[in-house]
Amino acid sequence: MPELPDLLYLQKYLRKKISNSTITNVRVKQPVVLRVAVNKPYEQALMGKRIMDVAVNGPFIRFELTGALDLVINLMVMGKLQLQDGKEKSQGYLCFSLSLNDGRALNLCDEQKMAKAYLVHRGDFGLIPKYSAQGTDILSPEFTPEQFKTIASKHTRKQVRVFINDHSILSAIGNAYADEILFDAKIHPKTFVGKLPHQELAALYSSIRSVMDWGIRKVEEAQQPIHVKVRDHMKVRGRLGKPCPRCSTTIRREGVHSYDVFFCPTCQPASRKLFLDWTRT
Ligand SMILES: [Zn+2]
Repeated sequence: MPELPDLLYLQKYLRKKISNSTITNVRVKQPVVLRVAVNKPYEQALMGKRIMDVAVNGPFIRFELTGALDLVINLMVMGKLQLQDGKEKSQGYLCFSLSLNDGRALNLCDEQKMAKAYLVHRGDFGLIPKYSAQGTDILSPEFTPEQFKTIASKHTRKQVRVFINDHSILSAIGNAYADEILFDAKIHPKTFVGKLPHQELAALYSSIRSVMDWGIRKVEEAQQPIHVKVRDHMKVRGRLGKPCPRCSTTIRREGVHSYDVFFCPTCQPASRKLFLDWTRT
């Protein structure tokens, strides 16, 4: 699943490469990914439209088009966007392709066919599940330590990994960066938010800021095509059985609410208190 650093890179890349490009052809291979809320067939509605801007809202990528239309894409688990030049092959399972006037094409590829592309009238986001239900933007100036404390005080009974991963609360931290943030803050993923002492809550806030900034920088530095998921810089995510970069303990994986979570049991110990509290709740 693409995460905020990936989406910001993708936004910057596409803004630079395809702003002002015009859609000259539309090929739909998998109509199951399309949700069309305009009074015209998808192909007809998009043909001849110019891409004015690319925006990101949580996991959504929004293409602002002429004709007062928005094309909003949620890549879900396996979906990829590819900017394909004339000679390249499409990356994986092609769902649809928008040819552009400069000879390139913007492809949505997803072998699971779970990605969704919504074509709506400008700003008509009520039709897009969860689009308007995004929580606090963690990169906005409004996201301060005080605000974070207030938000956390409303979710004391949630496990911290579930809390920071909930896009309706914080927009948006995915599975990979949620693991990296808790590793950075040295907090066990199953700790209840209400059991975090003041200093740990403050550490969690600063890790959210610093780990996301680090991720944004790393993805930017990698300069990969937008369909490549950059994860080489991860310290715990996807590193089961490898040594912790801080203390060399073997990285473990555990299930938290059906999600796989990676952590270092030495750097992120579960306190005895945690388990006592678990039985009380
Ligand atoms: Zn460690």
